[in-house]
Amino acid sequence: MAQLYYRYSTMNAGKSIELIKVAYNYEERGKRVLTLVPSLDNRYGTGVITSRIGIQREGIIISPETNILDIFMDEDAKAKVDCVLIDECQFLRKHHVQELVEVVDSFGVPVLAYGLKNDFRNELFEGSYYMLVYADKIEEIKTICWCGRKATMVARVVDGQFVKRGEQVVIGGNDMYVSLCRKHYNDGRLGPDK
Ligand SMILES: [Zn+2]
Repeated sequence: MAQLYYRYSTMNAGKSIELIKVAYNYEERGKRVLTLVPSLDNRYGTGVITSRIGIQREGIIISPETNILDIFMDEDAKAKVDCVLIDECQFLRKHHVQELVEVVDSFGVPVLAYGLKNDFRNELFEGSYYMLVYADKIEEIKTICWCGRKATMVARVVDGQFVKRGEQVVIGGNDMYVSLCRKHYNDGRLGPDK
């Protein structure tokens, strides 16, 4: 039975590396992988998944209006699709997640979605919310805080300052994100000396 997998983590836990590895394993066995990348705006065409260690992979860009089922059926008609992979699945809309459910349940093709769970304010993203609702398998990719505990929170840092309020997504900002354990998120400590 095909299943919908939601593999979540905080920032910099190696989600994109994991996705690229899974794609490689499928393709090595002669299987076809459809890779999707949600966008926050209305770009379309080909996007690039970039891992921190520099390995890249191309994917089809999913805009907020894209019907994933249409893309899947188009691609599947060209050559049978064996697996669907999604990067940054927190940016999916509700309808996207429901379309992925159709891919799994009506076509019997596994879907593996990688992304964040909570944002820097500790609220769920829309995509995360519906992945938690619909996924068959929910798996955590673990990473650690500077203190060595498991990181479960993401801090937004703007000009060196820890920020806990603001828009969920800032496009083109100069902010960065740091994964922290709950205690150090709540204490607002970005490192042993900060
Ligand atoms: Zn910590």
